[in-house]
Parts: sequence; structure tokens; C-alpha cells
Amino acid sequence: MSWSGLHSSAAVLNPPAHASPLPAVRRPAVRLTDKFGRTITDLRVSITDRCNYKCVYCRTGTEGAQFAELSMADYLRIIRVFVSLGIEKVRLTGGEPLLRKGLVPLLAELAQLRTSAADPKPLDLAITTNGHLLAEMAAPLARAGLSRITVSMDAVDAAIFERITRVPGSFDKVLAGVRAAQRAGLGPVKVNCVLLRGFNEDQIVPFARFSRDEGVIVRFIEFMPLEEDRLWTPEVVVPLEEVASKLNSFRPLVPLPANSPGETARRYSFDDGIGEIGIIAPVSQAFCGACSRIRLTSDGKIRTCLFSHFDHDLYGVLARGGSDDDLAAFIQKTVETKEARHHIGEPGFLKPSRSMVHIGG
Ligand code: SAM
Repeated sequence: MSWSGLHSSAAVLNPPAHASPLPAVRRPAVRLTDKFGRTITDLRVSITDRCNYKCVYCRTGTEGAQFAELSMADYLRIIRVFVSLGIEKVRLTGGEPLLRKGLVPLLAELAQLRTSAADPKPLDLAITTNGHLLAEMAAPLARAGLSRITVSMDAVDAAIFERITRVPGSFDKVLAGVRAAQRAGLGPVKVNCVLLRGFNEDQIVPFARFSRDEGVIVRFIEFMPLEEDRLWTPEVVVPLEEVASKLNSFRPLVPLPANSPGETARRYSFDDGIGEIGIIAPVSQAFCGACSRIRLTSDGKIRTCLFSHFDHDLYGVLARGGSDDDLAAFIQKTVETKEARHHIGEPGFLKPSRSMVHIGG
């Protein structure tokens, strides 16, 4: 830099007292938009397809996962490119993300990124975990810059819980994890419960009590046909109306406003304002019209919908020496192919070739 350049920089950093404040520099916002006009702001990244649980509705009890992972540096590079294209929320998932070494440093790097909106902000950084390792990791994750956490918990009865996870002793570990996350400042923790008729539909009211006692947000999710085993039938799904009616007979439900326009959960509290319940009904009340999501599988493929029949090999672009601009162009082209909606329950519906543990929930 020349002396005159240095001088003028100093003048800008320290303007004379009489100068009026400079207007804030505003950049044009970058947006990823699909052909139906939906803006994609929410990226879910599976950072491993390994899992330490074998939940009956997700994993088969016999076959292993594929174990296909990228390096943390590759995930970081890819996420940076997505963020430059308008992604505002990043959720790390799996498999089980807490199994992945290097998770805390990755989060610390992601916490430094800013959105590409006209008014840049830190990313909204979330993790979905089974909570098995959370008691030890909650505080380091919070310190690294995690914004919020969702813990999957399909029963508050230990015996039912372990019948679902197929891991003895798992209930106490997960409960300790939820409480550690609350203490670490990650509250209110969201607790996701996938309801399956014949397994845990009797847990609806106990979960309402759990939300009120522990100060967590409990979200009931309809079971989707994404499992490794062929368990899904329409009869196994416990629909939204049934959940709402059971909760109402416990205590009158009071609807809460949505937190954001694309929010998937219908939110409720009870008549005394204690506890929060969400009901996510992708099967009986699909919300594809407001979908703002895109997914990256653990092996670096883009999935434009949970129910896509195609993978888009973004990692292939990187592995062939592609630049960040090449990655961005590939992402933009792929988003244009995003499906209008899923077709669960319709005649001719075909389950996707990859299950939730590979795609990342
Ligand atoms: N291992 C982590 C966990 O347990 O949260 C993250 C991955 S898991 C695949 C993400 C979420 O997907 C969990 O909340 C799980 O309950 C949910 N899930 C898995 N299979 C599902 C299905 N077939 N239908 C609905 N939700 C499902």
C-alpha cells in the first residue's frame, strides 16, 4: 500500500468529528431459488452415516450403514459455498453426528461465517442427535457456537425407549444429555419423538408432562417411509389429529404462532402456558409448498427432497478439482430440479433408494 493509501484508510477509520456517519454498506442479497419460487435457506448436512443406535423405525437390526464420510475440511468448504448462496441455517445431522471426531472445531469454524443476506448475520447452527454422548459434549458444543439442539427421544419410559433404540442403558444416557444441554445454555432443547402405532403411541401424554417438568419443547413427528426395513404402512402412522386429541384430553391445547413462515411444526402450549408441543405432520398434512430445505448426504451428494430418487454428486465436482465457483454453479443447477412435493401414500409411491440414516434427518 502507498503512503497516500495508508493515509486515506486512516482517515476513513477515524473520520473528522464534523463528518456525518457513513451509510452502512449494503450488499445485494444472494438467494437460491427453485423453479417453484421457493427460496432455499436451510441446509442439512449429514457428517457421518454411522450410528450407535439401531432404532426399529430407522435401521435394520442386521445390516450396517455404508460408512461413507467426507473430511471435515471438505464439509466446511462445501458449507461455505452454500452460505455464499444464501443459506442461513445449517443443521448437522447423520447417522449420529456426535460420533464424528472434529465436530467441535467444525462448529467453531461455522460460527465464524456470516450469512450472505443484505444485512449479514451469524448462521443459525443446529444439531440433531440421539443424545447418547451429549452429557459430555453439551458444554463444548455450546462454547463452540452451537445455537440450538434437537434430541431424538421416542419414549419417556425407559423400557419402551430401549425397545426402540435396541441399546441397553440408552435411556439414562439420553436423559442426562438433555439435562446437560439445558444447563449448557442450549435450551429450550427440542425433543423429537417419532410416533409408531404399536410401539409408543401411549407416550403422548407422558411426553406432555415431560415438556412441562423439564422445560423442553416436545415435537411429535409422523413416521415417514424412509426406514431400512419395510415397516412403514399408513396404519403405523399416528396422525396429527390423534396426537392433538390425546393432548387436549390431558389439558386444553392453545395454538402458538409460527416462529417463521416455513416452520414445519404446528406449535401449541397448554391452557396454563406451561410446556410447549410441536406436531410435525409430513404425511397427513404435507408442507412441501413452504419447503426451504436442501440436504447434503455424508458422502457429499445433494438431495433436493427426502423422497428424491436422485443424488447429485457435489463431492464429485470437488474431487475433480472444481473451484468454489464450479461448486456454486452445480448447487444452483441442482436446486432448480427440486421436486414440487412428495407423494407418500399415493398409488405408485416408490420409497427412495437411500434410508434416513444415509440421507440425514
Ligand atoms: N442420530 C441422530 C438422531 O437420532 O437424532 C440424527 C439422525 S436421525 C436420522 C434424525 C431424525 O430423523 C431423528 O429425530 C429420527 O427420529 C428421525 N427419523 C428417522 N427415521 C425416520 C422416519 N422414517 N420417519 C420420521 N422420522 C425419522
